[in-house]
Amino acid sequence: MTSETHEFQVEARQLLQMMIHSIYSNKDVFLRELVSNASDALDKLRLEALRDGDLGADVSDLHVAIESDPAARTLTVRDNGIGMSREDVVALIGTIANSGTAAFLKDLRAAEDSATADGLIGQFGVGFYASFMVADEVTLVTRLAGESVGTRWTSTGEGTYTVEDAVDAPQGTAVTLHLKAEDSEDGLHDYTSRWKIKEIVKRYSDFITWPIRMAAEPVAADTDADPDADGGDGASEAGDREAGTAPPAPEVLNSMKALWARSRDDVTDDEYHELYKHISHDWNDPLETIRLQAEGTFEYQALLFIPSHAPHDLFAQDHARGVQLYVKRVFIMDNCEALMPPYLRFVKGVVDAADLSLNVSREILQQDRQIQLMHRRLAKKVLSTVKDMQAKEPERYATFWREFGRALKEGLLSDFENQETILKVSSFASTHDTEKPTTLAQYVERMKDGQEHIFHLTGESRQAMENSPHLEAFRAKGIEVLLLSDPVDEVWVEAVPQFAGKQLRSVAKGEVDLGTEEEKQEAETEREQLQEEFQGLLAWMTERLGESVKEVRLSTRLTVSPACIVSDAHDVTPALENMYRVMGRPVPQVKRILELNPGHPLVTGLNKAHAGGGDTTNLAETTELLHGMALLAEGGELADAPRFVRLLADRLERTL
Ligand code: ADP
Repeated sequence: MTSETHEFQVEARQLLQMMIHSIYSNKDVFLRELVSNASDALDKLRLEALRDGDLGADVSDLHVAIESDPAARTLTVRDNGIGMSREDVVALIGTIANSGTAAFLKDLRAAEDSATADGLIGQFGVGFYASFMVADEVTLVTRLAGESVGTRWTSTGEGTYTVEDAVDAPQGTAVTLHLKAEDSEDGLHDYTSRWKIKEIVKRYSDFITWPIRMAAEPVAADTDADPDADGGDGASEAGDREAGTAPPAPEVLNSMKALWARSRDDVTDDEYHELYKHISHDWNDPLETIRLQAEGTFEYQALLFIPSHAPHDLFAQDHARGVQLYVKRVFIMDNCEALMPPYLRFVKGVVDAADLSLNVSREILQQDRQIQLMHRRLAKKVLSTVKDMQAKEPERYATFWREFGRALKEGLLSDFENQETILKVSSFASTHDTEKPTTLAQYVERMKDGQEHIFHLTGESRQAMENSPHLEAFRAKGIEVLLLSDPVDEVWVEAVPQFAGKQLRSVAKGEVDLGTEEEKQEAETEREQLQEEFQGLLAWMTERLGESVKEVRLSTRLTVSPACIVSDAHDVTPALENMYRVMGRPVPQVKRILELNPGHPLVTGLNKAHAGGGDTTNLAETTELLHGMALLAEGGELADAPRFVRLLADRLERTL
């Protein structure tokens, strides 16, 4: 095939523009990204060769090689890994397949300062495109293992790229950057300098399990070499060890030691963080690093990370989840779902098991008892880490909860074994504090004398709930109510029976009887009187509204509003009904209850009119309006909105 010029996908083009204009402050990371990709490609080839004996690829000396040419101002990162086909190159390098890209770019353009932009770009992790921070032209030559012809891809990052056949391409991928002149001016950012390259590799990629080699002597111009090149920083020790294994005398820049296999005291936080970045493609430090060592019959080591922010696609159907699985330091698979429950899908990391077969499949893993035990242990470990964080580092816990609370709460529905722990580490918005969420334990501590339940209200947003008529009596009595606005809240509150012996109760359901025993007695007597007084009206209204409500009754929860809609204690809430419908599950229409505030002039007036044999049409319309208002107040929908508006307009007209 001949040379073709393609346009970058729109999002890719926008991202490249930002890279070219270097909105990210730490340009050094481009090399980390290239080495990370090369390392992945080597992992993939080794696995592929294991699966396919006829692949015909040479896997005897898998490595990454870095070559620099100060005279030509080029830097090449080469691997003899899996490589890419021409289609791969176009699909993988010319486009960005991340469902959150458009939203991300919008945020990025809106970012007001470079720190915010850095944070955003960091969350996204732009990978290969980071090359354009330092290069004005990038050439990628690649050949897929098992294919005979390779592909050359070239671009300046300005809108288009060219692809053509590369007949003599070696297997694997070589990325050559033609470096921008401006970066070398200060001397600190001369990426052809051996010293600089060594420093970057050591800092970001030391743990990479494949050798990262560089020719022992400067290739082109000795004179340009930094005087510190052999400054005895220890980096050459690894080289000594490897010396002579591959001509011409390469130096190995990384120690290649798996961090999880090293003793704890021997690894710095920075090193852990760099491993996290390699695994997660996140450029930011993780929020928490978790180490776990299991000995005994089934030995394994785990190094897990909780990121510091949620990925854009945490709630997307196709969100890749799970940790990396290694067997005795050898990479086996990415996104190993069997090791982590779905509600902990944000956890990244490595699990290295001693006694698994090297060609274990995902299907086998799902069934394996040992794996199931690991899964349990890992989940417990993550939860206990969160619990510690909650107890000792409130700030950090707050970040965790803000980013991942929504996902974690899914565990209340799927992980019964840990339900109590998940409840303990959860926080919820509450009427107690407009800013700070509360834990259930704190809620229980604040419960009033005579309060038996943990009260909550579910709704679309805090704001909508704050003004809900359902809260009136609670507010009047100073009783705290949890305000739950995540979709998953609708479901778990139904599934979780109690916390610390206290039942969870929706303030929008069932009867409300608040206060001490004495107060309740009093209220009951008062209610009996009122009941008698309003009996006629209630019966009449129940009949009028029979199509849409199952009962009209007096309310004990209203102090301000004339009416509200509630559900029976065990009925499905409208929001849940909606969710089921969206999921395509059949749900019978549940009729609800209209409650009237017997202290509201509109209600007492209506009662008087009814008792005095007032105009029936007028009474019926008022009934309809009351019902409609109650529906609107809880964010519900009117069955016949135009009719409601007409009735209301008529009434308003009469007030003029
Ligand atoms: P990411 O690494 O985050 O997926 P990149 O833009 O860095 O994003 O790379 C996109 C894809 O291109 C990679 O997922 C990989 O499939 C492919 N790729 C990149 N570099 C290499 C390489 N050296 N060898 C083989 N494939 C590569």
